[in-house]
Amino acid sequence: MVHPALESLLILQDRHAKLLNLEAQLKAVPRDIALVEQKIAAEKGAIEAARTEVRDLETKKKGIEVEIGSTADKLGKYRTQQSLVRKNDEFQALGHQIVTTEAEIGALEERELEVMYAIDEAKKRFVAAEATLKTNIAGHEARIRLLRERDTNLAAEVKTAQADTAAARQPVAEPALRLYDRVSARNMPAVVPIRGGKCGGCHLKVSSEIESASRGKGEPNGALPTCDQCGRIVYWDY
Ligand SMILES: [Zn+2]
Repeated sequence: MVHPALESLLILQDRHAKLLNLEAQLKAVPRDIALVEQKIAAEKGAIEAARTEVRDLETKKKGIEVEIGSTADKLGKYRTQQSLVRKNDEFQALGHQIVTTEAEIGALEERELEVMYAIDEAKKRFVAAEATLKTNIAGHEARIRLLRERDTNLAAEVKTAQADTAAARQPVAEPALRLYDRVSARNMPAVVPIRGGKCGGCHLKVSSEIESASRGKGEPNGALPTCDQCGRIVYWDY
């Protein structure tokens, strides 16, 4: 015959396992919400980064334009001076200045083109980042709403499961309850069948003493048999 405490212990374990499962699900909800919020933040961050990049590049472009303007002024002055000088060496010296300044302007214009190209690319990134957020935001928000509902529902289910578990403890005798609490704090399930001589928890072979105790060959009201290896409460199945 099976141990008299076994039936009520199995009912307790069933409710306790359900409670633990619900508690684990409830615990996971804030983390899941945080993950979605991180995604939103990352998508907003990509938009902000592209916006800043465009702004910085436009500032750079303006700087180059100012430089082109002042270099062009300088070039104009050299040309005026050149038209006024009479001496050949002065004329040639100014001619050299003019060539150098023209090259400077050419280099600046090339840099400006590069910056303009970079602005185009950054604007594309900005538009793409905005589109990504726009596409995803409704889904992100719906997911967060769902998770918050889940949080509320799970909290209620945990309360019910706590009450069910507490009620299931009532019929269990004190020594069996103490043993169950000790074992279940380490290992769930705490009450497992022996099948083919092996513990259903750790799957190792139990001693013949434990197996015969689990078959009710010992004291009918004695201590519950436990696995030699993992300490779980065992009962004989086949
Ligand atoms: Zn075991």
